[in-house]
Amino acid sequence: MKDVAISTSQISLLQQKLFAARQALEEMTEEQNEKLHILIQFIGQLSLACKGQNLELDNKLAKLRHKLVKFNQFEDSLPALNEADTILKQQYARVMLQLEDSRQSLANMVSQIQRIDSLPSKLKLEITYFKKELIKPFHTHWDYIPKVEKVVNFYDEILKEKLNLGEQFEILPRHRQAAHELALLLSEIEFRKEQRQQISEMKKSLTEEFELDTLLEAYQVVLNLLLDNIAREKTASQEFLYVLNNALSNVQEVVTDSYSHSVKNFQVTKQLNRDINFQVDNVGEAVIEVDDIDELKNQIALHLSSLRKSLGRKELLENREQTQLKQSVEALRQELKALGKETDSYKERLFEQQKLNLLDSLTQLPNRSALEERMDIEYRNYKRTKQPLWVAVADIDHFKTINDSFGHSTGDKTLQVIAMALKNALRESEFVARYGGEEFVLLLPNVAESDIQPLLNRVREKVKSIPFKFKNQRITVTVSIGAAQIIENELITETFDRADAALYKAKNESRDRVIIDF
Ligand code: GH3
Ligand code: MG
Ligand code: MG
Repeated sequence: MKDVAISTSQISLLQQKLFAARQALEEMTEEQNEKLHILIQFIGQLSLACKGQNLELDNKLAKLRHKLVKFNQFEDSLPALNEADTILKQQYARVMLQLEDSRQSLANMVSQIQRIDSLPSKLKLEITYFKKELIKPFHTHWDYIPKVEKVVNFYDEILKEKLNLGEQFEILPRHRQAAHELALLLSEIEFRKEQRQQISEMKKSLTEEFELDTLLEAYQVVLNLLLDNIAREKTASQEFLYVLNNALSNVQEVVTDSYSHSVKNFQVTKQLNRDINFQVDNVGEAVIEVDDIDELKNQIALHLSSLRKSLGRKELLENREQTQLKQSVEALRQELKALGKETDSYKERLFEQQKLNLLDSLTQLPNRSALEERMDIEYRNYKRTKQPLWVAVADIDHFKTINDSFGHSTGDKTLQVIAMALKNALRESEFVARYGGEEFVLLLPNVAESDIQPLLNRVREKVKSIPFKFKNQRITVTVSIGAAQIIENELITETFDRADAALYKAKNESRDRVIIDF
């Protein structure tokens, strides 16, 4: 009995435990289900987020979501879940391949960009760093997108660079030639003092590397400066003519005034003379007609007093006329003096201008126009006296090398020094002009045939002995000279051509020498 009782109590205990266990299990299942529910919802949301990558996967995930909605059919959805899982794995592998492809093609693009020659160095460096970054694989699209953005930025910068470059026109040989000619022209034109700095800077910019804009701007500036100078000269001439005109009209006024005074005075004087004559006649008549001596006395006294009055008036008139004449002459004298002063200053200005027009501004030697004038004079002298006359052409050897090696302004200074040496090597009666560029022309009258070679060799040696030092380098500069003597029935221009041909020979025969065309 006791056993039965024990068993019953044990069973009851077990039942209680079982009940508690079931309750615990139910609670657990409920909790599990709750978590599962959350998980299923999450899967549903996740599958929605995956939508759009792959059509097959989209279909499967749609079905799965449908099944998962019915929670009690969860078991049924397991196969669909498996299938979706497989496709998801495949999709992942595909995405990774795609990302690798994309990385490769980005790297190829960058290599192509690197092949562009004209990239700015900063951009080049940036691209090189970027290419190194591209070696690491991409794990997600989020790795890929910023890199694409970067490549787009590179292209953008390159495009901007190219477009900017496109705005600068290419400098062609003819532009360089034009710049060179403009620079030479600038050396030949005389500019005003305050313009010279600007002109010398412009000359410098035209001989260095320049852009087309610089050349166009230079043309514009030069044109404006020249127009300004012409306008000034015109104004100066106009001012002078204005003063001249004024002075002349003043003179005319004075002359007209004196003339009309003279006419008036002449008439008054004529009348006075008539009066005086009349009174003298009256005196005569009175003498004849009057017998009474007292009466006669009275009458004569009367006539004499009126005669004195007339004479007094006449004297007054003459005095006034004299003063007026004096004043007119003084006014004229002043007027002419002022005009003379104005003319002198105008003549001086004209003379200065003429002198400047005949001087080369770089070397201060006579220029080509001056040479032509002087050639004319020497030619006429020769025609008259038949004294020997020589024309020599001197050209600096390899002058371009000086410009190229030491710069154009060193070239300019060299020209100045050589010009001075040439001038100093000659006598007062001899003449040297800068013909153009690095060429000089010498006119040598009264030099005997036997003396010309030594004379020109002295000139050549004088240039050669100038101790030039450029950039701490001792440089010897030489000249080649060709000369010819004017012969009977020859124009001086023909003598010049023969001298020039002789110079050509000197150049061909090793330079630094004198060749005379005998
Ligand atoms: P060659 O011995 O055959 O005479 O050679 P070269 O280099 O002296 O002769 P070329 O005619 O080839 O060059 C002349 C140079 O003189 C070229 C030009 O730039 C330079 N030149 C001409 N005028 C000036 C100037 O006013 N200033 C400067 N600095 N250079 C000038
Ligand atoms: Mg030369
Ligand atoms: Mg030359």
